[in-house]
Amino acid sequence: MKKLALHWKIIIGMVLGVVYGLIANKLGWVDFTNAWIKPWGVIFVNLLKLIAVPLVFASLIKGVASLSNISKLSRIGGKTIGFYLASTVVAVTIGLFLVNFVQPGNTFSQEKRMELKEAYASKAGAKIDAASNVKEDGPLQFVVDIVPSNFLSAASDNSNMLQVIFFAILFGIAMIMLPNEKTVYVKGFFDGINDIILQIVDIIMMAAPYGVFALLGGLVVDFGGSADLFIALGLYSVTVIIGLLIMILAVYPLVLRIFTKVKYFDFFKAISPAQMLAFSTSSSAATLPVTMERCEEHLGVSEEVSSFVLPLGATINMDGTSLYQAVAAVFIAQAFGYDLDLAAQLTIVLTATLASIGAAAVPGAGMVMLVIVLSAIGIDPEGIALIFAVDRILDMMRTVVNVTGDATVATVIAATEGELRQVSQEELMS
Ligand code: ASP
Repeated sequence: MKKLALHWKIIIGMVLGVVYGLIANKLGWVDFTNAWIKPWGVIFVNLLKLIAVPLVFASLIKGVASLSNISKLSRIGGKTIGFYLASTVVAVTIGLFLVNFVQPGNTFSQEKRMELKEAYASKAGAKIDAASNVKEDGPLQFVVDIVPSNFLSAASDNSNMLQVIFFAILFGIAMIMLPNEKTVYVKGFFDGINDIILQIVDIIMMAAPYGVFALLGGLVVDFGGSADLFIALGLYSVTVIIGLLIMILAVYPLVLRIFTKVKYFDFFKAISPAQMLAFSTSSSAATLPVTMERCEEHLGVSEEVSSFVLPLGATINMDGTSLYQAVAAVFIAQAFGYDLDLAAQLTIVLTATLASIGAAAVPGAGMVMLVIVLSAIGIDPEGIALIFAVDRILDMMRTVVNVTGDATVATVIAATEGELRQVSQEELMS
């Protein structure tokens, strides 16, 4: 029998997970699911997170050190950041257009608004606290946060990825500046580490179908009885989803068409396992090892480019998150009866772009940063209570877009640098 491709196995795992969750809900297997199914999902995500820091560190050092000189590094770095910023601004703008056109917030009845606000106000509290800490910081705090004072403490927390990236780039730059004979062994060491970690990714991915089954089964059981809220927030969700689909089906194909020769269908096939993992884990950071592996081995992006562009993208480039923040902010404003003028909409473009850059690549981070967008346009941050019920599912979807955006930019940078290898049909399909 022909071996089933990985993405099919993952799809089957996802579908069975949802079916299991629905059945478990009906039959009241909540405790059983929490005790025996969910932990497998947690273990799977932990495995992915486990290798995130070593992978980012080793691959970035290898990537930077293999750039022959500093000017190549600054060229690729500048291009990467330019593409990331441009794609984020496009995403926010699409979100704003859609939400102003559909106006999902104007459909709420006053009663429903109060009911939702009350029901979720306590949960919103924790997110608001987390974000108000961020708000009180000075304008340069984000730069301060990038520079670690201790490498080990930076590396001990996955949410400090930017600090790890900073140190790895510094390390790589120092290596370029030294004569080759001084660094040849260190280079060989990191090359080896990099290959070993990519092999670990392969091993972990063998468990992916079971991992996504457990993750989705557990999630559906968690959602349990809140189906009516899903319906009440349907129009808002549909607006976000349409925006995300425009990114996936129109913006990225267009960008690939303009800058590369890669066919979108091939691109899609190559990165689909990463997209499915993004959906199941809601975390670009947890998905990063797989995104890198798919880009390098199935799309032909050189390691030099992928190991620089993708870790950076996972932390700072979140097109899906910024689009969602724009829609959510205007939706909440509409629901509370505010009229947003052009200045307020431009503030959303700016703050949603910055907030998505600042959001950690973990589940729910985009919602924490949404509080900042809301405050910037003078709306009570309690408003996030309104969208709480549907946030997890939208988080899953926006993470798919975040990861797809990173892979698109990596492909574009590779193509424009002559670093995109022609892949065989077999590599594409596997
Ligand atoms: N979960 C998203 C990610 O990891 C971030 C967010 O929008 O919450 O990419």
